[in-house]
Amino acid sequence: MQESMENPSIPFKRGKVKDVYDLGHDQLLFIFTDRVSAYDVVLPSTIPRKGEVLCKLAAFWFDYLKMPHHMLRVEDTNRMVVRRLKMIPVEAVVRGYLYGSLYERLKRGEISLPVEPVLAARLPEPYFDPTTKSDVKDEPVSLEQIEEEGWLDADQLGEVRKRTLEIYKKMSERAESAGFILADLKLEFGFDKEENIVLADSIGPDEFRLWPKNEYSPGKTQESYDKQGRPTPRPPELPSELIEETSRRYIVAYERLTGLKL
Ligand code: ADP
Repeated sequence: MQESMENPSIPFKRGKVKDVYDLGHDQLLFIFTDRVSAYDVVLPSTIPRKGEVLCKLAAFWFDYLKMPHHMLRVEDTNRMVVRRLKMIPVEAVVRGYLYGSLYERLKRGEISLPVEPVLAARLPEPYFDPTTKSDVKDEPVSLEQIEEEGWLDADQLGEVRKRTLEIYKKMSERAESAGFILADLKLEFGFDKEENIVLADSIGPDEFRLWPKNEYSPGKTQESYDKQGRPTPRPPELPSELIEETSRRYIVAYERLTGLKL
């Protein structure tokens, strides 16, 4: 434990929100920061305790899901040591509701779904909707394309899809009993040395949309407890009320989902 705390000196990637260090021995250290990004830009303001919530919530889900995952341990309040994997270059997105870019794509006629084009309508079934993994902009990608690019073969893709849907189901049920709707979710997977598919990255409010159930009402923009849950911020500074409210929402979401006190 001490080793990684003392000298996380080899940067692997400074993400927008978490800093990742290579600890050697096929291990990575994730430091979850209080930074906040909106529309792919890091804002100058930070959200108190956000890093702690993101780290602890991710740890909660990894334990809760009971599926192969990369987490080895949590150190301090906002650091997680994970197994280094060969990442699959696809974001495994699953959606239970018609929202965000899925709604836009349906309205533009780019896809067809068995649902009326009403914003925030519940889909008859969760919809696996993978995207590319890009630092600029993730784009939807078809299952055929994923195979053609050689990112996954048919069996592996089937497995990623199956696991993504299973995880969404489990997490939705948990969210439901905590008074939330889990509208959608983005997961990442990688391969370990034995080519097993392993759940990776992080699972938290930056990876899903979480709506309070009692305020759900199709046909309009939803209140939310995820990172989309703020009005469009205007850089350079977020107003202090907004910072406090965002921090509060992260903590409420954590405490209600996990049943634990922060
Ligand atoms: P993102 O790019 O998802 O916004 P970050 O900027 O925080 O995330 O960067 C984290 C990077 O680490 C991502 O490229 C992610 O795919 C990668 N990653 C996550 N888990 C692992 C792992 N176990 N092994 C190797 N890379 C990982």
